[in-house]
Amino acid sequence: MGMIDSFRTSEKFSCPVCGTILSDWQSHESEGLLLIWVQGEKYPLDTELPDECVGDRREFLQSYTLPDEFMIYSYDCDCPYPIELLCHCEDGLWKRSQLFTGSTADKVFAGAETKSAYKKRMKWLRKEL
Ligand SMILES: [Zn+2]
Repeated sequence: MGMIDSFRTSEKFSCPVCGTILSDWQSHESEGLLLIWVQGEKYPLDTELPDECVGDRREFLQSYTLPDEFMIYSYDCDCPYPIELLCHCEDGLWKRSQLFTGSTADKVFAGAETKSAYKKRMKWLRKEL
């Protein structure tokens, strides 16, 4: 396991390209706190950090909340790119998740890669490769 946070969605999603059911979602955003998030919960369910790093576990967990919008990734299928899920919170609760597909990609693309890399990935997502 790397230094990642895990996320449990309430809906099931499958890869928009190959159709594999995706169940493991992750993000690096908390920088090694190894938090476990469950959709609909305000605070992390737990952390994989051992007690000696955490102190009071409940207090530790309740010091973290999710941002209004965040992106998580799944590497469950054999596709050359991770599958992305854009998640939205309302009143601090993770309410909705939007799969990054060929038709939604243009709306959610955050500009983190070069234009040519993005174009290539979109071709894959639209099954044009
Ligand atoms: Zn796939």
